[in-house]
Amino acid sequence: MKDLKSLLEKVRKKILEEKKETKVDKKSNEYKEKKIYNKKEKRKSYKESKKNIVSSESKIAQVAYALLFDKTSNYVFEVKYSKKFKGYNATAKKVNNKITFNLSYYWKDVDDDIKIGLLQTLLLKLENKNKETINIDLYNNFIKNLHFTNTKKEFDEKLSLLFEKVNIKYFNGLLEKPSLKWEGESSRTLATYNYHDDTIRISNVFKDAPDEILMFLIYHESLHKFLKFKTKGKKTFYHTKQFRRLERMFENFESIEDKIKKYLLSRKKKKYLELFSKSGF
Ligand SMILES: [Zn+2]
Repeated sequence: MKDLKSLLEKVRKKILEEKKETKVDKKSNEYKEKKIYNKKEKRKSYKESKKNIVSSESKIAQVAYALLFDKTSNYVFEVKYSKKFKGYNATAKKVNNKITFNLSYYWKDVDDDIKIGLLQTLLLKLENKNKETINIDLYNNFIKNLHFTNTKKEFDEKLSLLFEKVNIKYFNGLLEKPSLKWEGESSRTLATYNYHDDTIRISNVFKDAPDEILMFLIYHESLHKFLKFKTKGKKTFYHTKQFRRLERMFENFESIEDKIKKYLLSRKKKKYLELFSKSGF
């Protein structure tokens, strides 16, 4: 196994080198292009250089797969970049033997080693498997250390105000403000914090909930932002002991769960009450 790994490492390096060369090629192509006045020629060489870049991205996906599963893949990979994503979000889908990765365009300039970790994480989700690799470690650290100074944030006015209160009361006003949004009722979660786009989303179900409940939801999700997450071997832990200990610091924590349940009952949100009882948030 070790030998295979070191072999793969060599393959990986070679591919990454090839990728760099492709980039250099593109530059020299562009230089040559300036000398070519024939428009047709120009279009042709542009198309070709673009094709090279696309294929080098799919090579990264092949490397990610090989390093993850210690074997080469029979899948056809495609890596696409899109501006439709907020922050560093990314998805993957599998149709027959083709796997398409859709990455936020923010990923375009991220180091290949980290990108490989992202692709591996998406692959594990698709295959419903657990594994650890150096690249996944790099990826997790990258996500934990993301700073969103460049990303445009979106704030709902009410949630924003309540966040400020929570921040002052429980974080000495030191927590960097994430985006705060309402999320449609169709979603399967009541409240979430997403590390990839630094956003707290609260379900519309709570649109007319008392401030206390909303503040608790915001506090819980802010704790996720504050504490990040722990990875241990195959698993990622979000609700650690430390998390639960800090969660209990919320004023009147003992009664908040009942209040949430009562609120959901009063709104005839049985589906959400079940969701809350089963998995919390
Ligand atoms: Zn949580």
